[in-house]
Amino acid sequence: MKKYWLPAVMLVIFETVAVTLWLTKDNLFYLFNFSYIGLSISFGVFLFIRKHKHARRIVQLLVGLYMLIYLGLICSENMQIEGFWYYLFTGVFEAATIHYAVAKIFGPLLFGRGWCGYACWTAMVLDFLPYKVPEKPRKKIGWIRYITFAASLIFVAALFLSKAGNIERIMFLAFIAGNIIYYAVGIILAYAFKDNRAFCKYICPVTVFLKPMSYFSLLRVKCDNDKCISCGKCKTVCPMNVDMTDNSRKRANGTECILCMECVRNCPRGAL
Ligand code: SF4
Ligand code: SF4
Ligand code: SF4
Repeated sequence: MKKYWLPAVMLVIFETVAVTLWLTKDNLFYLFNFSYIGLSISFGVFLFIRKHKHARRIVQLLVGLYMLIYLGLICSENMQIEGFWYYLFTGVFEAATIHYAVAKIFGPLLFGRGWCGYACWTAMVLDFLPYKVPEKPRKKIGWIRYITFAASLIFVAALFLSKAGNIERIMFLAFIAGNIIYYAVGIILAYAFKDNRAFCKYICPVTVFLKPMSYFSLLRVKCDNDKCISCGKCKTVCPMNVDMTDNSRKRANGTECILCMECVRNCPRGAL
């Protein structure tokens, strides 16, 4: 049973968040929301430990579809970065601000970019494309993320400064338009660069939060140098070009690791 400690710990963490928010905000939704997400993620980790081939994809679909369809389209919550700015400006610690605090700002100190590997509804679709491992070397255009990050902030700030009416409706429409644009750009880039995760590497504004926080992540892939035979297999299967044989926090593209565990699964020596 010892090997199942990780899904158990994940479930306890999410249940703690669920119960705390439920009681402090007096809203049953938080109990349901974080319990569902925690159960989905723990179930996926459990499947991974059982060596189920599609464990990660199952979690991506369980969490990604829930957030996109239920929270986004049915509950009209803008869970994109614009929604985060919106709630931040209104001074309300609700929906997107809680989501960002847990999944993308403070959570990564614990579980790195697990969000990107297991829950993001953009990557949920991009990961179905044919270029699971990048065919071309990484490009030096990651600075684009700062432009999209600034654009999202300016967009919401402009709505408030211009005192636009019915901002909630605008945010819902922005959620739909934003997702269509993200999917379109993500798919075009994946085919152009022969890399499913090109959007994540160069465009996604959320990485402005995710990368620095995941630098300090408690949960990370480590290499046992005594077992490693430097075969290079792990580098050839990594979708994010991470050099996981380097254990330092400054490893090449270390803040890009999405904890997909492809390197771990493929290492012939069990060194990771
Ligand atoms: S980098 Fe952005 S688009 Fe990619 S998985 Fe992470 S949050 Fe989603
Ligand atoms: S293959 Fe390994 S190093 Fe690369 S993203 Fe996945 S878990 Fe991280
Ligand atoms: S796949 Fe394993 S043995 Fe090969 S280089 Fe990576 S860590 Fe070392």
